[in-house]
Amino acid sequence: MTIDYRSDTFTKPTPGMLQAMLAAETGDDVFGEDPGVNRLEAMMADFFGKAAALYCPSGTMSNQVAIKAHTLPGDEVICSHLAHVYIYEGGGIAFNAGAQVRPLTGERGMISAAEVAAAINPDDVHKARTSLVCLENTANRGGGCCYDWEEILQIRAVCREHGLRLHLDGARLFNALIATRQDPKAYGETFDSISVCLNKGMGCPMGSVLLGGTEFIREARRIRKKLGGGLRQAGYMAATGIYAMENHLQRLEEDHQHAKQIAHTLLEKNFTGHMLPVETNILIFEVAGDWTPASFAAHLEKESIRVMPISGTQVRMVTHLDVTREMVDRTCEIISLM
Ligand SMILES: *Cc1c(COP(=O)(O)O)cnc(C)c1O
Repeated sequence: MTIDYRSDTFTKPTPGMLQAMLAAETGDDVFGEDPGVNRLEAMMADFFGKAAALYCPSGTMSNQVAIKAHTLPGDEVICSHLAHVYIYEGGGIAFNAGAQVRPLTGERGMISAAEVAAAINPDDVHKARTSLVCLENTANRGGGCCYDWEEILQIRAVCREHGLRLHLDGARLFNALIATRQDPKAYGETFDSISVCLNKGMGCPMGSVLLGGTEFIREARRIRKKLGGGLRQAGYMAATGIYAMENHLQRLEEDHQHAKQIAHTLLEKNFTGHMLPVETNILIFEVAGDWTPASFAAHLEKESIRVMPISGTQVRMVTHLDVTREMVDRTCEIISLM
């Protein structure tokens, strides 16, 4: 059996999740008449203490809809130079919103309030109008790291002072919430909008939820329709999200422990170079000495273990629902022998 650490998007629905799909009550969600979707949206809005929510097919669509709703063409969006919205959404900010990006250096995919404040354009006809700040938590390219809550509050204060909106790409916010034991409602209070993925650690086949105020979500619903994201009997899929919220949230803790166990094994090997701090379910580390990321991955592939070289020097491994404790033990044994 293959052990796939390339991404937490490789999970398959569990038997319980498939049962939940079969039992779903559905209707036409474009008419607002799918009880399953309505239930998922209400559940998520309540979880984060937001007024409204919108079920989207993917996290990319949730982010793109949010950015479009928050900006006008020609505006400038501030985010990390490693942000998913900037480097992994196909140039979507330019394509969908007609806005441009001010990428900031930050650290491990996270940016600071001081950097944000320094990047806001003055009110000057030469300059693009800065209107939105996007944060990512956990930060994917930062090795799944979690923002310092005080920094988020300071960024919030800078946004308030300058009339900017604040969006959170929370594709892995559930991992951050479990790792830091924070209250989801604190996030709902602090951000104008939040996107969360159900197709990552939560183990759903697809889906993401965008959260925000009533007016914002009304506008977001129109934009989702324009992008072709209005689905009909989406309740079959929404049922997987409800199931995941009830059954897969607390277990993220196991994924985090598994990642730490693998990190511990890797750090005992002298071919392991710099490793980003392992705070949640992502490991990003340098491979040196006798191995390159490609040869390291090829060796593990022969043992039916898949990892992802992400640069000429780095490998990424992600733990998730379909990686069991036995699989982690086996992986660690194999790495120990390398
Ligand atoms: C995966 C991911 C998304 C959205 O991904 P989809 O595959 O479109 O659901 C957005 N942001 C981050 C940080 C991600 O890791």
